[in-house]
Amino acid sequence: MKITIAKTAGFCMGVRRAVEMVLDTPSKYNSPIYTFGPLIHNPQVLDLLSEKGITTLTKVPDHGEGTILIRAHGVPPETKDQLSRAGFTVLDATCPRVIRVQVIIRKHTRKGYTTIIVGNRNHPEVVGLLGYAGQNGYVIAGTEELKALPVFDQAIIVAQTTQNQQLYEQITRWTGKHRAHYKIFNTICNSTSRRQIEVKELAHRSDAIVVVGGRESGNTRRLAEIVRETGKPAFQVESETDLNLADFGSLNRVGITAGASTPNWVLRRVFRTLDKESITKGRALHRAFFTLRRALLLTNIYVALGAGSLCFACAELQGFYDHFSTVLVTMLYVFSMHIMNNLIGAKADRFNDPGRAHFYQKYKLPLVLLAIMAGGYGLIIAATMGVLPFTVLLLMSLLGLSYNLPLLPDIFTKGRYRSIRDIPGSKTVLIAIAWGVATAVFPALVHINGISPATVVVFFWSTALVFARTAFFDILDMQGDRIVGRETIPLLFGEQATTRFLKLILTISPLVLIFSAAISLVTSLAVGLTVSPVFLYLVIAFHEKGHMLPGIRLEFLVESGFILAGLITLTWMVFN
Ligand code: SF4
Repeated sequence: MKITIAKTAGFCMGVRRAVEMVLDTPSKYNSPIYTFGPLIHNPQVLDLLSEKGITTLTKVPDHGEGTILIRAHGVPPETKDQLSRAGFTVLDATCPRVIRVQVIIRKHTRKGYTTIIVGNRNHPEVVGLLGYAGQNGYVIAGTEELKALPVFDQAIIVAQTTQNQQLYEQITRWTGKHRAHYKIFNTICNSTSRRQIEVKELAHRSDAIVVVGGRESGNTRRLAEIVRETGKPAFQVESETDLNLADFGSLNRVGITAGASTPNWVLRRVFRTLDKESITKGRALHRAFFTLRRALLLTNIYVALGAGSLCFACAELQGFYDHFSTVLVTMLYVFSMHIMNNLIGAKADRFNDPGRAHFYQKYKLPLVLLAIMAGGYGLIIAATMGVLPFTVLLLMSLLGLSYNLPLLPDIFTKGRYRSIRDIPGSKTVLIAIAWGVATAVFPALVHINGISPATVVVFFWSTALVFARTAFFDILDMQGDRIVGRETIPLLFGEQATTRFLKLILTISPLVLIFSAAISLVTSLAVGLTVSPVFLYLVIAFHEKGHMLPGIRLEFLVESGFILAGLITLTWMVFN
């Protein structure tokens, strides 16, 4: 079964902005913090917000305190005033595109126009818009209701921002013919219209479409309606648990789209479930390969093999030829640290990868023991290699273990940067540096008891590769990380800027290798190893174009960039 995810699926600009505003609120405004109405229709997110002390109010109380955030749909102006009068600090996260419609209505209401809104009269956005029309506002769902209204001297027609484009065009066509003096505004948000156009097109080239989003979400329902109008089945689900997998048994091409308030991790979980189902139903060989890949990734064995391969390549680049022990120590170190990392990151994985979170929850104790044994064994081997390699590995292990520990008392940090983890982007940078030291510097310490110019070049190449790999995974996990408050590099600089930066370092690092080989700083293996950054660059570029969907395959492919470096090194050794 071929699965395609619509490019426009997931959070729209307005919802993303509101979610980000509410997540920033606890550090900037007075508690308690409320949202006026549920921020998005996702129970897990609402639970997490309530863990952060952000709860939902659905009515304006007589008296209130703290801060209240108006969500992207907006509210009637009197509700905003009532909230202020009740005693709240009001933060307005109304989407700028909804504000545009409010402004159109208010301006025309002041000039005596009647407002006709095409939309769902119970939808919060429409309730809010109606508030700007005063006594002269009407809501219609279709042309028949418009015909039933009196003919007004002057009126405007606007649409709920998530209205069905086709329906709105029908209504405005009729208005043009029969109420030509009415002013028509196309207020359908282009994020909605692009989503609707794409799902229609996707439905034509699929056997069925899965529409992910809240049951209460109007724009999600409309996406499902558009699919059904094309004659294709639409399965509307809130999460992967709503999928009836029997429905997909005979399908060859399935599309997935999502409403404007659907977090991308929910979308990915639906994709993963369907993908797994399709593999389970597929050929035995595919099933076995999928299970093997998943097991290797979950247990971090594949990551450790990748680190060993990278160390092998780095050692050969520097001209060290006896490196079995250094490769083994690097593998044990990375294996141990990544298990610890996954155990610590289980909270974000609840959103980003629940399968992984479940695995780490279930096997917590044996995994902790395994991490301690691997780390301890690595240190014992390092001790036999000399004081310097042992000391460096010990320091790196302690740094890894202290990553989450509070290092400074609250009085110096005001509760913000107590541990290394609290420093924005620290995880990605530290993982890259730790791998760089383990793969490039550690072999040099063992073989020459110090570092050389070649070590510096090789360290840069290895660190750049690992940084690109880790930051790319951070890009995939951005929304889940944002919700749990993890400040990763893509969250600091944005997805596009981070992707551009990753591509830049993946372009520079092979050039540095080639130049270093040309001046005989490193061995001629450098030419072959330019393939690894190019490979990673291509994976990122393909993902950007929507050709590689997040899941086991993509994760496995990214980690395979390191294994590729090991295989290239092995081939180079054979021919040398
Ligand atoms: S669908 Fe459009 S108008 Fe509505 S919140 Fe999203 S970006 Fe804003």
